[in-house]
Amino acid sequence: MTKVADILTTMEYGPAPESAKLANQWLDAHSRAFGMYIGGQWTTPTPDRMIDVINPSTAKRIAAISHGTADNVDAAVAAARKAFKSWSQMPGHARAKLMYGLARKIQKHARLLAVLETMDNGKPIRETRDIDIPLVARHFYHHAGWAQVMDTELPGYTPVGVVGQVVPWNFPLLMLAWKIAPAIAAGNTIVLKPSKWTSLSALAFAELCDDAGIPPGVVNIITGDGGTGDILLQHPGIDKIAFTGSTEVGRHIRNVTAGSGKKLSLELGGKSPFIVFEDADLDSAIEGIVDAIWFNQGQVCCAGSRLLVQEGIAEELYRRLRARMEKLRVGDPLDKAVDIGAIVAKAQLVEIETLVRQGQAEGAILWQPSWACPTEGFFYPPTLFTEVAPSATIAQVEIFGPVLVAMTFRTPAEAIALANNTRYGLAASVWSEDINLALDISGKIKAGVVWINSTNVFDAAAGFGGYRESGYGREGGREGMFEYLKPRGLYSEGAPALVPAASGANSRAVLAGVARLNSAIDRTPKNYIGGRQARPDSGYSRAVRGSSGELIGEVGDGNRKDIRNAVEAARAASGWAEQTAHNRAQVVYYIAENLAARRVDFAARLSQSTGVDAGDALAEVDASIDRLFTFAAWSDKYDGAVHRTPYRAITLAFNEPMGVIGVVCPDERPLLSLVTLMAGAIAMGNAIVVVPSEAHPLLATDLYQVLDTSDVPGGVVNLVTGPRADLANVLAAHMDIDAVWCFATPELVTLTERASIGNMKRMWTSSKRLHWESGDAGLIQEILRQSTQVKNVWAPYGA
Ligand code: NDP
Repeated sequence: MTKVADILTTMEYGPAPESAKLANQWLDAHSRAFGMYIGGQWTTPTPDRMIDVINPSTAKRIAAISHGTADNVDAAVAAARKAFKSWSQMPGHARAKLMYGLARKIQKHARLLAVLETMDNGKPIRETRDIDIPLVARHFYHHAGWAQVMDTELPGYTPVGVVGQVVPWNFPLLMLAWKIAPAIAAGNTIVLKPSKWTSLSALAFAELCDDAGIPPGVVNIITGDGGTGDILLQHPGIDKIAFTGSTEVGRHIRNVTAGSGKKLSLELGGKSPFIVFEDADLDSAIEGIVDAIWFNQGQVCCAGSRLLVQEGIAEELYRRLRARMEKLRVGDPLDKAVDIGAIVAKAQLVEIETLVRQGQAEGAILWQPSWACPTEGFFYPPTLFTEVAPSATIAQVEIFGPVLVAMTFRTPAEAIALANNTRYGLAASVWSEDINLALDISGKIKAGVVWINSTNVFDAAAGFGGYRESGYGREGGREGMFEYLKPRGLYSEGAPALVPAASGANSRAVLAGVARLNSAIDRTPKNYIGGRQARPDSGYSRAVRGSSGELIGEVGDGNRKDIRNAVEAARAASGWAEQTAHNRAQVVYYIAENLAARRVDFAARLSQSTGVDAGDALAEVDASIDRLFTFAAWSDKYDGAVHRTPYRAITLAFNEPMGVIGVVCPDERPLLSLVTLMAGAIAMGNAIVVVPSEAHPLLATDLYQVLDTSDVPGGVVNLVTGPRADLANVLAAHMDIDAVWCFATPELVTLTERASIGNMKRMWTSSKRLHWESGDAGLIQEILRQSTQVKNVWAPYGA
């Protein structure tokens, strides 16, 4: 028998198991076979369509879940549709009360949920008990608040409708909460599919919804594999898709839903850098690393899986890290003294083992602790790779396991280059005692979340989501609410209106005269690239006809090479994003000033091109000037936020520009639509490549003369005229563009959505006519949001 004195000598942990009794009772009460929760009812499990639930820490079967069919999905979507009307029209206070009640139920059943999650997923009870489930409850409380204040805080927005949600296995209940809480707070109804590996907590949650009185059909849980998920997300009755999982499946979803008009948010993979500068507090950094890569066995989308260490401290950091790794405890996840639990499934374990072998084969140095993992169940030891080349597979591919790859850097600039040397951009962690350096680095890293001297901190009040191929859309906070809302009045309903300008009886004749005078000397406008007029690569031009079919000019016949040059010029104009918002506003005001000086010329061109009468043409020019003023005004007012998270940390939300945006303009309101999109995008610090209206390109080519005289730096606005569908396709497929906006026919929208999948760029498309004439907050706010992506920077404080 072990004596107390022996324990004091060895300081060995004794077993501290959490009881599985409650969870086993719950499983037994359901005969360990589960139906699905559809329209407030439970389906009966069908023995020949079940999926085994395996406890990854024992490799033993603990239950079975139903394998959802297309009929089940139909029924769930129909139930959600039926519930939508009353749920969305219910007063916010009524939804808030129900969600508050649900949050209370989650807290009351926290122990059951935590144990169940651990048995199903393999993650340590310490994490489910102290992190996952408390955050789940917090999410419902926070969003009950959004339901309460929606009418006053988000006026002019309506819920999207029925939402299809697919969540992965790494944080089964937490990801469910991130998806369901904002969706139902906003008044949507949902159908959610958890992963086939980890569905139990979602089913327990469905029972809590029932208990809390959430009306039937508001929350529907269907179970099954990826095939069931596929049927759900492709279902025509779904208005919005919210997905978390691999980039590969994210791509598939974009491909199959292209042109469907479904609103999409994707939270995909990551390969997040964990950067340690030589002035960092090394012991804190070591604990940070443990949390970054061994939390949840490294199966975390934002895991700090790439350790970047400043060269001078690398050996010392590795030495201390190895010593710490030697002390980590892998084992029964229900044991309260265990640090690292089991890998979710055999298939995932095999995947990790394969990538680790590849890392060794490519020459990296592997280190693992001297002790062995349990042999029963799916365990993998904490693993450190050093001497990893930045291009190595293990430095680029998401391993999704407890494997850390380390690289060194010498200067802050090199750290940033290494950190951004990935197709992902989900998160980053920066360690330095110099807050100036840490904040500077935070601004330069392309990631949706940056933690300073901390890592893996989450809260419902702060948005979470990625840049680049880590997906788009945010979960949490105000920005997360917008993912489940749509602005009223964005699209034109009925006759579009502009207040006609007073034009005088003979003004049509005057404008016609101006147009004639302006084209008295033959002029073939060229493309506008990098602040210069550029002859189209083809050397050809194309005829432009007026409203009665007469020839009114020619423009360049642009091709893929022109688009490539334009993207290069836009990328080179990155200094624009670094200018102060005040300076950008001055430039946008200056464009307005110069456009106003040529008001009659532009009205003449509009009248000649589109056939609108003089009053309407002048009104469109005036509205364009107004729009420039609006976005110049917003330039230094579209602020971020300081979130109220329950930590001793300042959580700063910045609205950063997207980068380079490709803009495919509509034919309607050719000046106003172009100016509206351009002004919004550049006011927020983006550079743009514009494909103007194919029917009325002369408005765009006239505009570059205005840009030339308005101090717009070269490359900030680039214009390529020509065959719109071909140019849009090249733009959408270009790998160095961050977002594409396309307002065109359903066919062209579908084409661009498909073409854009390569680098998963953010898309804003519509085949419906936008209400360009409206200066309403709905349109303006939508453009501001589409022009930016939110970065959350967490900086803890405390002596
Ligand atoms: P998947 O992307 O395949 O799975 C995520 C979710 O999508 C699961 O619920 C899955 O269902 C479902 N799914 C799978 N295929 C489809 C489809 N065609 N249509 C709709 N839904 C689908 O990830 P994996 O589980 O295969 O993990 C592979 C890798 O993905 C990991 O190693 C990791 O790199 C990454 N990953 C990233 C996550 C993140 O949080 N960003 C989370 C999970 C994985 P089911 O599980 O039932 O098959």
